[in-house]
Order: sequence, then structure tokens, then C-alpha cells
Amino acid sequence: MSKVPSITLNNGVAMPQLGFGVWQVPDDEAERAVTTALEAGYRSIDTAAVYENETGTGRAVATSGLPREDLFITTKLWNSDQGYDSTLRAFDASLDRLGLDYADLYLIHWPMPAQDTAADTYRAFEKILADGRVKAIGVSNFLPEHLERLFDKTSVVPAVNQIELHPHLQQEASREFHARHGIATEAWSPLGQGKGLLEVPTVVAVAHKHDRTPAQVVLRWHLQLGNVVIPKSVTPSRIQENLDVFGFELDADDLAALKALNEDRRLGPDPATFNVA
Ligand code: NAD
Repeated sequence: MSKVPSITLNNGVAMPQLGFGVWQVPDDEAERAVTTALEAGYRSIDTAAVYENETGTGRAVATSGLPREDLFITTKLWNSDQGYDSTLRAFDASLDRLGLDYADLYLIHWPMPAQDTAADTYRAFEKILADGRVKAIGVSNFLPEHLERLFDKTSVVPAVNQIELHPHLQQEASREFHARHGIATEAWSPLGQGKGLLEVPTVVAVAHKHDRTPAQVVLRWHLQLGNVVIPKSVTPSRIQENLDVFGFELDADDLAALKALNEDRRLGPDPATFNVA
């Protein structure tokens, strides 16, 4: 049994609050890393068509011997496949590579505002959902303005918006908007890609105080904010460490100190201007 708590999405589906991300992990390595993660106790895996590791991810799932209903598999539609018919085809291809007959969560990877095909794309998502081939649908990298536009043209409120979020980019406006609309906030690059963030003196000090690592403190911060997190690592000890974040609690002083680290600083592209297909 996994010790990771679940959150309930706006359509009643349960999603583990902590999962395992596989961006930038080559396909053969993804099989090993996902196998390690599943053995450690992760049950939610976050991949995407553009990561080119759905096949390795699917192989790890198949060989795990775990019941399908205990797993939560997310994949994402790449930008060049936006549009109604192309989305239906892309979803079939993703499921095929994963070796699954349904996905748990399907996300539009980027809003691509210049192209303005997100609503057509999302209508195909609604069909896939109605056909029972995915348990929940959502988006990624959507700003509130992109969500508003989607609300105007489609019927199903996205269950999730997966956005870049870490102590240097705390995304308060988006988190507040999501909460108001019943959309779960999922944090990508939750550890700030492991770069400078884990060496910031405030993070290190909180880690010392709790006898934990900086990565554990940052993940704990996300969980206490209510975010879903999907840290990535291919190192078995770190895969284990990133899951071991349920036996301690940050106090109000810790949370205030971490809140002060916000710099509204992105590591990735700005969704308002990113239109690369
Ligand atoms: P992350 O914040 O999870 O950082 C991962 C890096 O941090 C690792 O490569 C490693 O160098 C380091 N690290 C991991 N655990 C550590 C530990 N315990 N101690 C010290 N260093 C550690 O970054 P990420 O991979 O960019 O994001 C996580 C996941 O989010 C991705 O794998 C992917 O699934 C998803 N993602 C989605 C999008 C999107 O556009 N939707 C974009 C980027 C990432």
C-alpha cells in the first residue's frame, strides 16, 4: 500500500498528490527509473508524447505486476498534434506506446495562444473522456486567460492545470484562480530542476531544523500548499528520498521563510509567448 495521500479531482477521481516525472529521461532509462519508482511506492507517473519515453514507461508498468487500478498514468498531447482529429489520433498513439487501454489523465501540453486550437483540441479530449478512455482531462501551462477562453468554448472544467511552480515561482494568482474553479494545481519542476534552489540558505536552514534534505523540504512545502508534485530523478536514493516526505510538518515560520523566496522567476518558457509546434 502506498503511503502517498490522494486528492479528489473535480470529477471525483482520486489522484496521488505525489508522483514521478520522467522528462528528459531516455526511453530505455525510463523503464529502469519507473521500475525503481514503482518499487519504492510511487503510483503516479507523469510522461508526455514529446518526452519520447511512453514506451519505456509502459514497459515498466507492464512488468511491475501492479494492478492497473492502483496506478495513475498521465500523458500529454504535444503542440504539433493540436486540433480535433489529430488529437484523437495522437491519443491512440500514446495509449499504444504505453501499452494501456486507458490513461488516468490527459493534458494539453501548452496553450499555444498564437495558434488558437486549444478549444478544438479540448473538444477531442471531452470525446475521449466520454468514451471512457481516460479518467480525467486537463491542461498544462495555461494562464488564467487561456483557461477563461477554454471555459467559453467547452463544457468540462479541466481537472488539473500542470504549471511550472517552485519556491522561486510561487504562482499565487494561478493557484488562487484554480482553487476558485475547482482545478487542481500540479507543480512541474517542483524542485526548480535541482539547480540553485536546493542550495538557497533558507531552504538549507529549514532542512537542518527538521533533519531532512533541502529537496524534502521543498516537496513538503508543495504538499502543505495543496499542490500535486511530480519530482524527477534517475538516482535510486533520490527517488526514495523524494517519496519520504510524509513524516514531518513545516511550521508557520518555515512556510513564511519559504514564501519570501518568491521571485516570479521562470526556468521554462512563458506560456503567453511559447508557440513552438
Ligand atoms: P525537478 O524540479 O523535478 O528537478 C529534477 C532534478 O532535480 C533532477 O534531474 C536532479 O538533478 C535533481 N534532484 C531530484 N531529486 C533530488 C534530490 N532528492 N536531491 C537533490 N537533487 C535532486 O524538475 P523536472 O524534471 O523539470 O520536473 C519534474 C517533472 O515535471 C518532469 O519530469 C516532467 O514530468 C514534468 N514537467 C512538465 C513540464 C510541462 O511543460 N508540463 C515541463 C517540465 C517538467
